[in-house]
Amino acid sequence: MLTVHTEDHRLHHGKAELIDGILQPCFEMPSRIDMILARVKAVALGPIASPTEFGMSPLARVHGARYLQFLEHAWSQWSALGRAHDALPLVWPVRDLRTDREPEHIDGKMGYFSMDAGVPITAGTWAAVRASANVALTGAQRLQAGDRAVFALCRPPGHHAAADYMGGYCYLNNAAIAVRWLMDGGAARVAVLDVDYHHGNGSQSIFYRDPAVLVASIHGDPRAEYPYFSGYADERGEGPGLGLNHNYPLPRATAWSTGYAQALQDACLRIQAFSPDAVVVSLGVDTFEHDPISAFKLVNADYLRIGEAIGRLARPTLFVMEGGYAVDDIGVNAVNVLQGFESV
Ligand SMILES: [Zn+2]
Repeated sequence: MLTVHTEDHRLHHGKAELIDGILQPCFEMPSRIDMILARVKAVALGPIASPTEFGMSPLARVHGARYLQFLEHAWSQWSALGRAHDALPLVWPVRDLRTDREPEHIDGKMGYFSMDAGVPITAGTWAAVRASANVALTGAQRLQAGDRAVFALCRPPGHHAAADYMGGYCYLNNAAIAVRWLMDGGAARVAVLDVDYHHGNGSQSIFYRDPAVLVASIHGDPRAEYPYFSGYADERGEGPGLGLNHNYPLPRATAWSTGYAQALQDACLRIQAFSPDAVVVSLGVDTFEHDPISAFKLVNADYLRIGEAIGRLARPTLFVMEGGYAVDDIGVNAVNVLQGFESV
């Protein structure tokens, strides 16, 4: 299996996020990719290729023009005020506050285009998120050219980013950008399977009314887990997309045999019934028992089983890297999914 990778992800390295009331070093850090790439090489998963440049138009197929403008210029506006630390949002337009006006001040824009404070913007963020999207797009292109599967080693991740807001370490929705690119290239139906511990709210939002994209997400119950405000089982899609969004919220401490395997099997059955031309997997491995910010209890070998289940779908499959913060094990767990897939 081809892995698509670029060192440009290092251009983004947020210094701090708010955890337990304290600004702490971000769990989302460049070494995550180092560990996965080392494992890809250790098991000789396959060739490693650099991404090609796809320009802005595939991004604009998913994200709003004003949001993209904001992302591109946020750091220069922030730093023009003499601010040297990462840009972080601090006020949000909830409920009856005005959402029809984009503020002019960068502090206002940061809140207007985000859902939380877990999205530091640095001098290199825009270049890194563009590169991450190009990694996913290069993977999609290879899939279209006939590869059975490709691993897009994306960083920053993407599944919390919606059409016009960022959140949860995510800025551009790499998986959604790849889906749209595949469909523009002729795919009639694409399924997104999100196995990250956290609900893929951005992907759900982007395809919520789309009759050609099925989205299935297995994640921590939002009653007790980030992102708290989406991911319930009764979110089933809307209008022409009704019935094509499937959420599997599971309680904390869920293990393979206590609910995870059953949810995955059900999601795979729904994907198979949808008969997609391709499957895009939002591959988060923060479901691991020792993940520092999550609460499921999957063990190393369970990731082989996840890959096997996806392999049995027998569809062209793009794996897009999302979360996973137990850095010592992230490589083994992510690559176990890919090896499980290839063993089928
Ligand atoms: Zn996650």
